[in-house]
Amino acid sequence: MFYQPHNLQEALELRGRLKNGALVINGGTDVLVAMNHGTLRPRSFLDLSHIEDFNVIERDNGWIRMGAGTTFAQLGRLDIKCLREAALSMGGTQIRNVGTIGGNLVSASPAGDGCVALLALDAEVEVASAARGPRRLKLNDDWFLAYRETALADDELVTRVRVRADMSTAWYKIGKRGAVNISVVCCAVGRSPDERYRLAFGSVAFRPMRAAQAEQLLDGQALPDALIDRAAESVMKEVSPIDDHRAGAAYRRAMCGVLTRRLLCGLQE
Ligand SMILES: Cc1cc2nc3c(=O)[nH]c(=O)nc-3n(C[C@H](O)[C@H](O)[C@H](O)COP(=O)(O)OP(=O)(O)OC[C@H]3O[C@@H](n4cnc5c(N)ncnc54)[C@H](O)[C@@H]3O)c2cc1C
Repeated sequence: MFYQPHNLQEALELRGRLKNGALVINGGTDVLVAMNHGTLRPRSFLDLSHIEDFNVIERDNGWIRMGAGTTFAQLGRLDIKCLREAALSMGGTQIRNVGTIGGNLVSASPAGDGCVALLALDAEVEVASAARGPRRLKLNDDWFLAYRETALADDELVTRVRVRADMSTAWYKIGKRGAVNISVVCCAVGRSPDERYRLAFGSVAFRPMRAAQAEQLLDGQALPDALIDRAAESVMKEVSPIDDHRAGAAYRRAMCGVLTRRLLCGLQE
């Protein structure tokens, strides 16, 4: 069966009734790859791509709220540097036109570029179920449970994500090939007006992560070179990369230090 609700309430009711009996799909850019590999063999789908207003971006009281169906093409037009640049670094045009921020969050890949940019923005994920209504989860603290596992319940959908609108940010991704540019390492940095820092990394742990100890070193400080160096040293200790076919762990660790220095210096410009 192919369920294609046109509004959120209908989608939540279907999700509550079908639970994991129907595979949720939006852009399908992760789902179809898994189906092609044979790791997913769904009998039914719950397609969210026709839900009205599921891709709306709104500004409200210091926050920017994005519907879960917001595509990376849309994010590539935002005035939030790290999110815009992360979005534009993803896949090719076709992938960006259909791949969504909700799908990126639920896939929870350690290399998820959207997740890394959102971590630097102190994002909160809004989920909802027909039975219990909405709830809001802090992306860094509450969302990622294990490798590619999130706090989303089997009767819930991601409905929105919200980020602070007032942060200065920077982004860089080290990858290999244009349209299949899965990161070797990516980094997003955010600084709030009260000088609190967020240092987020992809492809260097079992989940997209923040370097909490380095953030503590920086919080409330101006950024002399010596402090940036200490933060970079701390980041290199906090990450736990692995060797794989894309890069070695030692290279990834070293690049985390390089990107920390580069992006923190970039914030000052
Ligand atoms: C060629 C190619 C290049 C890529 N390049 C990149 C890249 O550079 N960086 C990167 O981070 N990713 C990349 N990806 C991965 C992918 O495009 C992203 O993860 C994308 O954000 C997934 O969104 P989607 O809407 O297509 O998700 P789908 O494939 O539709 O779904 C992904 C997962 O999320 C669930 N889901 C989707 N929406 C919801 C929702 N609202 N509520 C609950 N569950 C939901 C689905 O059940 C599924 O488990 C690439 C993929 C391809 C095929």
